[in-house]
Amino acid sequence: MAKSIESSSRSGQEKSLLRKLAPLGLLTVSLLVSLGAYSEKQKAFIKERDEGCQFPGEHNCGGKLIIHQIKPPAYSKKEGLDPDYPENGLTICSNAQRLIYSDLQRIPRDGVGKVMKQRGIKLKQGIPYWNTSFDMPMSTQATIKTQQAKTDGREFPTVKRRKKSK
Ligand SMILES: [Zn+2]
Repeated sequence: MAKSIESSSRSGQEKSLLRKLAPLGLLTVSLLVSLGAYSEKQKAFIKERDEGCQFPGEHNCGGKLIIHQIKPPAYSKKEGLDPDYPENGLTICSNAQRLIYSDLQRIPRDGVGKVMKQRGIKLKQGIPYWNTSFDMPMSTQATIKTQQAKTDGREFPTVKRRKKSK
C-alpha cells in the first residue's frame, strides 16, 4: 500500500473510492476512521499498555476496541508532524469514538463521501474536523500509560522509516 498522502488530490480520490465502498456502510467508516499510520506492533503495544477502553469522558462504554490516534494522521502530516508516537494513541471503544467524530453520527448511506469532503475542506484550512475537547484528557491518559509501560520495561516499537529526503 502506498503510504504517501497528497492532501491536495486526496479528497477527490477518497470520494470516488468511498462512492464505491458506500454500500458497505459503517464498516467502511470505521475502517477509514481507524486508518492510522501505526504499525501492527505499535498497535499491539498500545493495546497491551492500555488493557481496555481508556476514554476519559463520560460515555456508554461498548463496541469494538480501537487504537485511536488523538491527532489524526492526515492532520498531523498536514502540519508536518509525525503522528506515530505512543502518547498520541489511546485504546478507546467505538462508542467513544463516535463522540469524537460526531460527523459520523446518523450518516446516510450515501453520505460518507460528503462527510469526507467536508473533512478535506477543513483539513486544507487547518481546522480540526473532530471534537477536540477530549484531546487533552486523552493525551494525559496516554502519557501516564506510556510512562507506566516504560517503568515496566516495555518500549514502544520503532518503525524503520522509508527514504528520508535530506
Ligand atoms: Zn469505552
